[in-house]
Amino acid sequence: MLQSKLFTKTSRNVSADEVSVNARFLTQAGFIDKQMAGAYSFLPLGLRVHRKIEQIIRQEMDAIGGEELLMTSLQPKELWEVTKRWDTPEQIMYKFEQAGSSDVGLAWTHEEPITRIAKRFISSYRDLPRYVYQLQTKFRHEPRAKSGIIRLREFVMKDLYSFHATEADLDLYYEQAKQAYLNVFSRCGLETMVVEASGGAFTKKYSHEFQVLTEAGEDRVIYCSSCKYAQNHEVAKGKVGEQCSACGQDKFKEGKCVEVGNIFKLGTKFSEDFKLYYTAEDGSPKPVVMASYGIGPGRVMGTIVEVHHDEAGIRWPEAVAPYRLHLIALGKEAEVLERAQALYQELTSRGAEVLYDDRDESAGIKFKDADLIGLPWRAVVSAKTGDKVELKSRIAAKAELVGTHKLLNTFSVR
Ligand SMILES: [Zn+2]
Repeated sequence: MLQSKLFTKTSRNVSADEVSVNARFLTQAGFIDKQMAGAYSFLPLGLRVHRKIEQIIRQEMDAIGGEELLMTSLQPKELWEVTKRWDTPEQIMYKFEQAGSSDVGLAWTHEEPITRIAKRFISSYRDLPRYVYQLQTKFRHEPRAKSGIIRLREFVMKDLYSFHATEADLDLYYEQAKQAYLNVFSRCGLETMVVEASGGAFTKKYSHEFQVLTEAGEDRVIYCSSCKYAQNHEVAKGKVGEQCSACGQDKFKEGKCVEVGNIFKLGTKFSEDFKLYYTAEDGSPKPVVMASYGIGPGRVMGTIVEVHHDEAGIRWPEAVAPYRLHLIALGKEAEVLERAQALYQELTSRGAEVLYDDRDESAGIKFKDADLIGLPWRAVVSAKTGDKVELKSRIAAKAELVGTHKLLNTFSVR
């Protein structure tokens, strides 16, 4: 991509009400645009990051047997009255009255619709287990939305639903899903803790949250730095300073964190409400055992920025960066510009993901923008570099001179 042709430009101005680091840097670098509190547009650079995170999630969900589908956001009142969730106490559902027909809401989760759909296809023990997921837009009327893209009123969510004949089968799959979640986050450059949380109204067991320690977090966890055993604030009342009950090596500490995902055993709550029964091997009818598993790619993206940045800007991990390499031409000499242009074409033809700063700007401006946008690698071509380029990692202090051949080998994918 030629930076001179990019739809967005960097800008140092951000409205004063953007208090979070992720919103400030992502706005300045041109990744996102705020429409109103909790509602952002993902601009071309931002969408590239979002899609890369989605792709990592897809790969990991497919690896544990997930089949992708896409459900509608429009939800009729009657469906949600089956589980008595139309009038949730939090009132997070956006609802509309429609002249001549029943009320409609925008989905903030999809247990009701997927259970209704599953009734069409699951009737025997032979139809179990099944796993379906989607990457789909959710709407939640969040009362507080001040954390940039970490807490949104409209956002894409990956939600997977699993259907099982027995609790034991669910327990096995739940562990696989937990591992798949850890894979997703570590591939995105995030160190997560698996945190025990309340199982809510549906199960006596714990549910699990995936939490990233950061000052930007709105949640609080109690954790052990030795073994990483952790519980959320509601479960672990007053345990700070106590000896860790899991390993005994350390005392529980409290930390601020962002929840990037959660997995939840639903038991038979939804299958009982919707009468989703299957015929067991002995011929008896039994309710299907269910669980749901959520990740918000936008929230993951915001959290990555909170964790990976310095004063100058973002430091994208390679797997989610919009482009891997920022190629920068310095100076106005025809030779330099021709060499940079030739390198850009060669890299692009070999499938490398390159943003080429071909603008007529000073070195100072180009370097500042490169640091702000935060691609993992920067390659500078100038009169000084001769037939080599100056290659620098975004997280390294120093650059090194490397030959064209090495540069091509490092960034080519074919
Ligand atoms: Zn411990």
